[in-house]
Amino acid sequence: MTVRVRFAPSPTGMFHVGGARSALQNWIFAKQHGGVFVLRVEDTDAARNRPEWIDGILTALDWIGIRRGSYEGPYFQSANAGEHRAAAERLHQGGRAYYCDCARADVQARTGSEHRGYDGFCRDRGLQACAGRALRFRTPDTGSTTVVDLVRGEPTFDNQLIEDFVIARGDGSPVFLLANVVDDISQGITHVIRAEEHLPNTPKQQLLWDALGVKPPIWAHVPVVVNEKRQKLSKRRDKVALEAYRDEGYLSAAMCNYLMLLGWAPSNDREIVPWSVIEQEFRLDAVNPSPAFFDEKKLRAFNGEYIRALPIEDFIAACQPWLTGTPPTPGAPSGTGVTVPPWRPVDYDPATFAAVAPLAQTRIAVLSEIVANVDFLFLDMPAIDGAAWTKAMKKGSTELLEATIAAFDALPEWSADALKAALEQVGTARGLKLGKAQAPVRVAVTGRSVGLPLFESLEVLGADRTLRRLRAARTEITG
Ligand code: GLU
Repeated sequence: MTVRVRFAPSPTGMFHVGGARSALQNWIFAKQHGGVFVLRVEDTDAARNRPEWIDGILTALDWIGIRRGSYEGPYFQSANAGEHRAAAERLHQGGRAYYCDCARADVQARTGSEHRGYDGFCRDRGLQACAGRALRFRTPDTGSTTVVDLVRGEPTFDNQLIEDFVIARGDGSPVFLLANVVDDISQGITHVIRAEEHLPNTPKQQLLWDALGVKPPIWAHVPVVVNEKRQKLSKRRDKVALEAYRDEGYLSAAMCNYLMLLGWAPSNDREIVPWSVIEQEFRLDAVNPSPAFFDEKKLRAFNGEYIRALPIEDFIAACQPWLTGTPPTPGAPSGTGVTVPPWRPVDYDPATFAAVAPLAQTRIAVLSEIVANVDFLFLDMPAIDGAAWTKAMKKGSTELLEATIAAFDALPEWSADALKAALEQVGTARGLKLGKAQAPVRVAVTGRSVGLPLFESLEVLGADRTLRRLRAARTEITG
């Protein structure tokens, strides 16, 4: 039997990090079993679908290494509508489903509760299809349904507690539960690996598989992803869009590694491991069914490590989209919730950037931070951070800047070492440690209070621009 898995997103919003995790798990599972990964876009909710979300799915999958051409599909659920209707009809013909004209209020009045579900009133009324009548599946009255789940063992559901659920609406359109099963059957899916939130659907869906005469798949419901308050990650509250992380400058490799740790760990307590190790070691039956905490701080730390591990040429190349102001992935949906700092390169010069790149590589955790670290090198005058300015430009700063200008101006050689020695001397003469003496110089020249090592930065910036900025700051303070 060839293993066939599918990733079945609905194109109703940005690509959720939890979805990315499920996609990767499916992808690895298929690879480990010499199987096939199918992409199926579940686009039957016409009111909520938007074409750009479909592009977003393809782009996001590509970004995490699931490349177009290396999987089957994309198939579109809407294209299979005829089969969904035919299956509903077959279930009706075979007596496994019946038409129902009960209004919700009537059901509630009979059961005395809105939570009790459908009471089977129309089961034996023999109603025929008619506009406004829903088609309900006749669930077994006795016994239980056991699903084989690689993550959760064999959860068993009492059939009596499964209501006669709707499989086609009053307008004849099949609902998600049925469409999803019919597609899985027609696409020959052997393993359904998906988020835990679909577990309650599973006994119903397995009953549908049985009723349609096909052996159900093996299931794997991977844990829900939660925030630090243990709430399910929500797009209204949390940063869930994969695109947001990409635009902020997370590396795909770091993201993929981190996503795979949501509910699973490689051997020997390792966390940062090459993808080849993950592909080899990952096991669905080793996934912890408890909710998995998406820890953005940890992801940032991971990303910093991945950035530091890049060969310098790769780091330089990876920074380019942010340095040149091009979006990381052109064509991706906008509105990812991330503001990449505005970047107006005045005089961007690859050689200048290459000179400071190794210094920056050790300091940033996400690639977008590169802009704030190096923009002073490419702007005519630095973008001044007002708070940093107020803090650094204290009483006495004018005199300190004055002395620094004179000392720097007199240097025979413009090198980091010489600049440092000169400022040290200026500071010592005024009873200031180097850190204190540096503060106004740093803000005057770079606009910020933190950043790359100062003297190396000044060396790269050059004497003319450094002195011009120091003089401008002195004038600004003296007014
Ligand atoms: N379209 C469903 C979703 O996005 C997936 C259902 C499934 O994987 O079975 O949640």
